[in-house]
Amino acid sequence: MLGDGKSVILSFDDGPAPVSALESILQTLQENEIKAEFYVLGNEVEQYPEAARMIVRQGHDIQNHSWSHPDLAKAPEQDVRWELEQTQNIIEDATGIVPTKIRPPYGAGGFRGHMDPELVEVASDLSLTIITWDIDTEDWRAPQGLGPEKIQNIETQFTQQQRKILFNILMHVQPATARDLPSFISQLKEWGFIIAEP
Ligand SMILES: [Zn+2]
Repeated sequence: MLGDGKSVILSFDDGPAPVSALESILQTLQENEIKAEFYVLGNEVEQYPEAARMIVRQGHDIQNHSWSHPDLAKAPEQDVRWELEQTQNIIEDATGIVPTKIRPPYGAGGFRGHMDPELVEVASDLSLTIITWDIDTEDWRAPQGLGPEKIQNIETQFTQQQRKILFNILMHVQPATARDLPSFISQLKEWGFIIAEP
């Protein structure tokens, strides 16, 4: 089977809003006893601190996804620093947690071979590990969510990385993903993957 002896970590970007989608995702994760990671935006944590606390209270990881979702590979160092630092601060203010990982928006400047030196330096100053992903569900692409054509593409991505045994799966906090998450989790289990804690 595709997932024999292999594990996946579920990760959700661009939260904590919309809150209704977040609540639905959290509910599904709870029902399946899954712990996931959430890469949140500082400006949304500022608007919805209670939603950020909800993520933490349910035992999930809350991590840094910048303040306003810019392309950090193109931003000057002072902007990169501001984006990451402000987000560290607001997450700590809201939840008491200091994030340990940064996922740069669009993965820009964060992929091996294409690391942005300013991002690397700022992340290091803030003790943040730069994290991208292994499987891009493209759940944001129309039709949004994790429908059959997405599943086929995801299966192909797993097949193309035969030797890997742990995959980070990128999804987003949005209604269509929340809707399709229960069936996607079933699919992962059917393929034989273990859903690991981040
Ligand atoms: Zn994002």
